[in-house]
This record gives sequence, structure tokens and C-alpha cells, in this order.
Amino acid sequence: MAEINVSAESRDLTMVERIGVHSHIRGLGLNSSLEPRAVSEGMVGQTKARKAAGIILQMIKEGKIAGRAVLIAGQAGTGKTAIAIGMAKSLGLETPFTMVAGSELFSLEISKTEALKQAFRKAIGVRIKEEVDIIEGEVVDVQIDRPEVSGAASKTGKLTLKTTEMERVYDMGVKMTGSLRKEKVRRGDVIAIDKDIRMITKLGRSFTSARDYDAMGPQTKFVQCPDGELQKRKEVVRCVTLHEIDVINSSMRGFLALFTGDTGQVPSEVRESVDEKVIEWRDGGKADVVPGVLFIDDVHMLDIECFSFLDCVLENEMAPILVIATDRGITTVRGTDYESPHGIPVELLDRLLIITTQPYTEDEISKIIEIRCQEEDVEVSEEAKLLLTKMGADISLRYSISLITPAALACQKRKGTIVEVRDVHRVYTLFLDVKRSTQFLMECESQYMFNEAGDDGDTRR
Ligand code: ATP
Repeated sequence: MAEINVSAESRDLTMVERIGVHSHIRGLGLNSSLEPRAVSEGMVGQTKARKAAGIILQMIKEGKIAGRAVLIAGQAGTGKTAIAIGMAKSLGLETPFTMVAGSELFSLEISKTEALKQAFRKAIGVRIKEEVDIIEGEVVDVQIDRPEVSGAASKTGKLTLKTTEMERVYDMGVKMTGSLRKEKVRRGDVIAIDKDIRMITKLGRSFTSARDYDAMGPQTKFVQCPDGELQKRKEVVRCVTLHEIDVINSSMRGFLALFTGDTGQVPSEVRESVDEKVIEWRDGGKADVVPGVLFIDDVHMLDIECFSFLDCVLENEMAPILVIATDRGITTVRGTDYESPHGIPVELLDRLLIITTQPYTEDEISKIIEIRCQEEDVEVSEEAKLLLTKMGADISLRYSISLITPAALACQKRKGTIVEVRDVHRVYTLFLDVKRSTQFLMECESQYMFNEAGDDGDTRR
């Protein structure tokens, strides 16, 4: 590989935030002395675990936790994932955070250790400082082909820029998506643009005033071009992950493979040369390596090979912080005959900082339900909220949270405006929880397929 390629636009598009069961979590809800507030940033209760997570965050920020790992252990639905997401949100967008479920590693087309390697490298960021030539001018026209498609992954069109000497037309393609969204380039704006239109900076009304040059930041400098013209250069910082650099350099399809997810196996010699290059950039002051966080949920799904792989990679100088979670007690380590706490081999357990989560009180469940109703924009009567809380305590918090939107739809259907007990009751009868579903299975087992083994010799189990 002659040269290592880096793509900034791929980063823009992969940072799309998903709305989901944890979208109400905006941080760990700690004050500046790392003390947990009772309800804050979408977080309720679980104060000891949040405080412990906050201390780990502090260690991450101070770079004091390399080569270590954290285990969040607790019963199902006690907020282990919520705490990991709270950690990620508190670290900010510059610190990569990658989340995988233990089972995902086995369902991919690549080997489980390759999947783990990729997950690790997705959690290591590289901030590359680069100087780019910039051209500045006034925007005389912006044509966007699909401006109304909200949330569209790409917008195409043309940008016409009038510089001091001439008008130039830039074909935006997908490249300008991220920048367009962030900077909202409009007609009349004076902007600075690099020749690959990967970076656009708004300067203000007149780019000849000192103030506007200041707006470009102290890193702007002028260079003498071969033809004697004065041209500006600007230092830009791109944040990519090691995995993105690997894929761009290993696949025939370059960074496009990142969008399709069809990254395949990355050859080890590609990874080695990427590492060499990144270390060279780091030592030469051209890049910073930012170890992020890799969160592996349901870690008991990993087998002994994966665990020994984890043990080894944690020693790597660029390793991210590993946060793992499980709801298992003493159980068999997959791929062996021996039992261990949480199904994790003792050698790995020994190097973990362990945080435990506790079951919620009814009051805490009620607050979480309230926050979720706000998040899902659903108005619920006091009685219905009480019922949801009771379900959260007696059945599961997850089940009760998952009934909120269906209950709102049931309410809408009867042309109501506030979710009442009858709406919750209706969806409770329509959607089974694990306990009722198991009960039903036990009662009707004989009517299900593949239960006839033994009767007629069918062994398709
Ligand atoms: P599992 O073991 O099944 O993976 P878990 O311990 O990871 O479960 P979560 O998925 O984090 O549990 O929690 C279930 C739901 O409750 C999620 O929607 C989560 O965001 C929410 N939740 C859990 N704990 C809290 C909390 N302390 N504050 C606010 N919301 C929470």
C-alpha cells in the first residue's frame, strides 16, 4: 500500500443518531463532583452504578485506564445498556463509542475474532490534522436536487461560487451532505471551500475584512503558489476510526464499503501498515490517537476463544476501553465445561472493574415511565401511568416501556387524546409478556411444529 487513504465524509454519514429505547439517555446525570443527581439527563436512580461509571469516565478522559476493562453486571432491565450509553454521551462525539451484542459476533459472515477485531478498531479514533488549499468567494447559487427529503442520506446538486477572478461551479454530489447540513450554505454567503468540497467555512458578508479572516481561526495561513498567486491554506482536523482507514485501504470499493457494510475480512498486512502509518503520524505530530469505548452487551455469549482474544488485545497500546455487560450469574463459559461467574473466565474477570446494577423501586420505575412518555410524546393519565408502573415492577420495565406507543395508538383509534387505563389494558391483552407467552407455549405445546419427535421418529429438532 503506497499511501494510506482517509475519508472524512464517511464519518459524517455514520454518525447518524438512532432513535430507540435509549434515546432519552443524554448522559450519566452527574454533577461536576461526579455525584449522581436523582433524576438527570434522562437517568433515574441506580446512583451507585452511575457514580462508578462517572469515575471510570474521568479515568478515560485522563488516559489512565488503558488496557483495562469494566463489567456492568445486573439483572435484565436494570439499566446496564443505559449506563453504557450514558457514558458514551458524556464522552462526546469526538470519542468513538462502538456497541455490539455478544450474539452478533457469531451471526456475521466473517469469523468471530475478525468481528471482534473490527469492533475494537471502530472504537479507536484518529484525529488527523491536515493542511488543505482553500478557495473563497461568494455563493451566487445553490441548487439542491432533493432538498425536501428529511433525513435523506445524501443531497445532490450544484454550488456556484464567485471568486475574485471567476465563477466556479461545484458539483456537490454526496460529498457535501454533512457540511451542507451543518453550515446551511445559502446564496450571498461568503465561504471558504477546499478543492474537494469536503470542508466549507462560512466567513460572513465580506471576506476582505480582518474580522472575517479571524473567523477562519488562527490556523489559516497564506502560501505562495507556483504561479505567484497568494492562496490560503487551512489546517483541518478529520476524525476517523482505525476501522474506517482499514476498510478504505483494503476494499476495492474504498469508503463505499462502509455504507454497504460489506467490509469483509481485512487482511492483516493492511492493518499492520495502517498501524505503522498512524503511529508515524502520531509521532510526527500529524495525528492524535483517541482510544474510545467498545461496549459488548450479553458478553456471556462469547466463547473461550473470544475471551482469550480480548485478554490479548487489551495489552495493545492503542486499545480502547472495554465495557462489557451481562445479566448471567454463575454459568458455563461457552466452549468449555467449566463454570465461572457471569460465564467469564477468571483470568479476564481478574482484570475487570465490576459495577453492579440493582432492581428499581416502584418510584424509580414510575419516573422512568414518565420520561419515556415524554420522549415518545405520549400523554398518559395518572391511573394509566400507575398501571404501567405496576407492570414495570411485576412484569418487566422493558415490557411496560414497550406498551407506551401501542397504547397511544389504541387511544388514537378510539379518538381519545390521553392514554387511559383501558388503552393500556387493551394492548396488554394484545401483546404477551415473556411469562404469559411461556405459559401459552406450555399449554399448547403439542400443537406446535417439531413436537412430534418420538411419535413418528421425526428428529428435526
Ligand atoms: P438487558 O440485561 O436485558 O440487556 P439492561 O440491564 O441493559 O437489560 P436496559 O436495556 O438498559 O437494561 O434498560 C431497559 C429500559 O429501561 C431501556 O429503555 C432503558 O433506557 C431504560 N432504563 C433503564 N435504566 C434506566 C435508568 N436508570 N434511567 C432511565 N432509563 C433507564
